[in-house]
Amino acid sequence: MGHIAFGVIDRGTNVLQVRPTTLCPLSCVFCSVDAGPRSRWRRSEYLVEPGWLASWVEAAAREKGVAVEALIDGVGDPFTYPWLPRLVRLLKETGVVSSVAAETHGETLTVELVRRLEEAGLDRVNLSIETLDPEKARRLAATPWYDVERVRRVAEFIARETSIDLHVTPVWLPGVNDEDVVEIVEWAYRIGAGKRWPPVTVQKYIAHRRGRRPPGVREPGWDEFWRWLRELERRTGRRLTWSMEEWGMRRAPRVRQRLRRGERVKVQVVAPGWLRGEWLVRVLGVDRVATLVSAPWARPGMLVPARVTGDKDEIYIVKPA
Ligand code: SF4
Repeated sequence: MGHIAFGVIDRGTNVLQVRPTTLCPLSCVFCSVDAGPRSRWRRSEYLVEPGWLASWVEAAAREKGVAVEALIDGVGDPFTYPWLPRLVRLLKETGVVSSVAAETHGETLTVELVRRLEEAGLDRVNLSIETLDPEKARRLAATPWYDVERVRRVAEFIARETSIDLHVTPVWLPGVNDEDVVEIVEWAYRIGAGKRWPPVTVQKYIAHRRGRRPPGVREPGWDEFWRWLRELERRTGRRLTWSMEEWGMRRAPRVRQRLRRGERVKVQVVAPGWLRGEWLVRVLGVDRVATLVSAPWARPGMLVPARVTGDKDEIYIVKPA
């Protein structure tokens, strides 16, 4: 724990985010985490052992004192993770995980992988898909071989022929895919998405400092977003907004915060960081990793006295003290 790009993140609910990989084969033009072959900011990619992730989820859930949903997500596409079925199985075997969901843009989904995930106990796939038009999908993914028709067929297989639920999560890009989102909502309902959880949630496009911004697309304000969603609900006659309870989500005790902003620590540089200008470090005497910034002279193995400058949700940023 301690890093935004990999490991386990607790945001104070009964859902724990589990981040096994940072890799992604696509380079979506709106990607908020600058993933994929066209990344401009990344310096390293990470893969985490499945057994390690499961044991950290178990320890965190026991400390929180609640059964948790393990949401396998991340700053890449979790379906590129080579040990995904094994991770799902290990999470289920902990006895403290009530459900396992995994997010994807679907490019690496296959019927065979879905079958293996069903056997392993995967409960839900959250599928992000912004258009069903093949040419537009290739343009939005900035990937000439992206085949949304194939993604669509495997998604329909999940919804209709497996026990895994499908939750469809298009990102609304104002002026780019307004009508495509309408089509996706109708499609998701028609194929039977939402067996146990809500069928569709539209995501708001958020322009991040180090994310990619499609030219000519502006970020909608929250008021505009909710107005647009209500209008979409009226137009399609489909529900698109859900309460936390309908998601089975509730506030829950957090794991004890190990470090506080302002605290002085000693860190050891382990490897280059996720993004340019960052180093991956371990915090001595504390079972957490952190991101060291403002240290262009740092090298692996170095011990650095540092101060914690970011501690939100136990995602730690430190600077040389
Ligand atoms: S939006 Fe998702 S699928 Fe697209 S590049 Fe980013 S991480 Fe990959």
